[in-house]
Amino acid sequence: MTRMSQALDILQHTFGYESFRGDQAAIIDEVVAGRDALVLMPTGGGKSLCYQLPALIRPGVGIIVSPLIALMKDQVNALLQLDIRAAYLNSTLPHDEVEAIEAGLLAGEYDLVYFAPERLLQDRTLQLLERLEIALFAIDEAHCVSQWGHDFRVDYLQLNILHERFPAIPRIALTATADDRTRKEIVTRLQLEQGKQFVDSFDRPNIHYRITRKDNPKQQLLRFLQSEHKGDAGIVYCLSRKKTEQMASWLTNQGLTALPYHAGLPGNTRHAHQERFLNEEAVIIVATIAFGMGINKPDVRFVAHLDLPKSIEAYYQETGRAGRDGLPATAWMAYGLEDVVKLRLMAESSSAAQSHKTLERHKLDAMLGFCEIDSCRRYAMLKYFAEDSPEHCGNCDTCLQPVETWDATNAAQRALSCVYRTKQMFGVVHLIDVLLGKDNIKIQNFGHHQLSTYGIGKDLGKDAWRSVFRQLMAKGYLTVDSAGHGSLLLTEFSKPVLKGEEQVTFRKEVAMSKISTISPRNTLIADEDQDLWQALKACRTLLAKSQGVPPYIIFNDATLKEFIDHRPNTAEQLLRLKGVGESKLEKYGEQFLRVLRENEIIGVGDNGG
Ligand code: ADP
Ligand code: ZN
Repeated sequence: MTRMSQALDILQHTFGYESFRGDQAAIIDEVVAGRDALVLMPTGGGKSLCYQLPALIRPGVGIIVSPLIALMKDQVNALLQLDIRAAYLNSTLPHDEVEAIEAGLLAGEYDLVYFAPERLLQDRTLQLLERLEIALFAIDEAHCVSQWGHDFRVDYLQLNILHERFPAIPRIALTATADDRTRKEIVTRLQLEQGKQFVDSFDRPNIHYRITRKDNPKQQLLRFLQSEHKGDAGIVYCLSRKKTEQMASWLTNQGLTALPYHAGLPGNTRHAHQERFLNEEAVIIVATIAFGMGINKPDVRFVAHLDLPKSIEAYYQETGRAGRDGLPATAWMAYGLEDVVKLRLMAESSSAAQSHKTLERHKLDAMLGFCEIDSCRRYAMLKYFAEDSPEHCGNCDTCLQPVETWDATNAAQRALSCVYRTKQMFGVVHLIDVLLGKDNIKIQNFGHHQLSTYGIGKDLGKDAWRSVFRQLMAKGYLTVDSAGHGSLLLTEFSKPVLKGEEQVTFRKEVAMSKISTISPRNTLIADEDQDLWQALKACRTLLAKSQGVPPYIIFNDATLKEFIDHRPNTAEQLLRLKGVGESKLEKYGEQFLRVLRENEIIGVGDNGG
């Protein structure tokens, strides 16, 4: 058999997939041939197969370095289901198990063994490895070598030792981090100069992006969950610890299963919540950004943001945790004036060094611009990562419901002039009161009823003015005074507008009732198939419980959806579906066929009656 036909054979019979995706085949070919490779692929792109298959094809054991214990355990569980001989070694294992695995390694009993970096770098381990036949080294989450990234792991810096001590063994480094700087850092730190680089598109076509105007966020979130994600697992991100707890308990009161997660919770609580998220269906985690990295759960169906991420990179990474299995998923965010004020204030008052502060401010500007954009969100995001894509994706809110714009030059001039006349000492609420000609104590005290801008905004309502101020801030025409408790300041960009030298165009606000009717390109399961879907899920949960593994390890959502779409009747038909290989057919085929048959009978009965 040639190299590639052998790879395809394993892909089909062991993993149960029909064909390779994207660069997978080329990457596998490269590594099987004994050469190094760097793989940049988005989350859910299918990175694992890129090292798992070569490890099975090449003689010896594949050694995988992975930074996260939960991730390792998950990968090993998934491989064991396929009757692939896999194990992991990290600090959580008792001594006798470590010894047993080491003995197994010496006896050639494993196809793949995962190591935590600190374990791999121990002298004892390196000496053991020197006595083995090694198929390859895979360095997963390779961006952890980057000191600039927030996933930096000091142990990762020493992984170049692998190249020095085992120069003949191919190494494959993998990451889902897109940016150029990180890529270059990985190459130098890991001495991968000789390796071929495979850069996949960073688009996540199955994710529907939507950013909605904040207006009673709790109710908005609840409506979103009830109308689009009933019974789904997902993540809700909030900025503060307190808010995650309040949101989780509020959602629980609404009858959902929602658990908080943040760095301030005791370790065992955090662990318990994470385990429930992984091992039960339909659990919602309400978290700060402390939650995410290492969450390998493929069937996260939505990621909701109640607060704005600090950069497009962060938004991409956080929303990217949805839909790893390739099935439709939603990235939903509610965003409003207060978010802009808060983040602008944070950026201004940050104690970081000036150069760093400038960088942070640019990133925030890009994020705010992204929220206010009137063209395709996906196009803009990919462009930000220097990737070209079609100008209309058809699966984001602005594509599905084109945004109308208006010439806001005159309104912007009035707003900016009001900031100027009140001496740049007031926040949005007061400024709008002045524009609307309100009569209150503050206005009297400061004599603002005598200003030329007093009452000149009565043609627009309060909400319209809020929208104007929000967009002025988001686009950099106004900023927030860090010393002045949120008073607005003019910027270098204000003047051309005030002088009539620059036109400004803003998004027209869409009525809330209309926004909630946009729905993503395709919903996952049709209403008439919901019963079968639940029955299939119940079946996998039962099997998973008895083995102490997460349900998706048995069959993930993508495979269950294949069952619904194809209604297999026989083992042969089942085997043809994506995600059903020979081992899983033998282990679970009969049970799932039974569920499908039972449903068929009920279905026929319904039709007859
Ligand atoms: P990553 O590590 O890049 O985030 P994974 O390796 O976990 O992604 O793969 C994501 C999902 O895609 C998994 O459910 C995996 O089984 C599936 N997958 C990978 N390669 C293929 C393929 N060639 N055909 C079908 N499904 C695939
Ligand atoms: Zn779009």
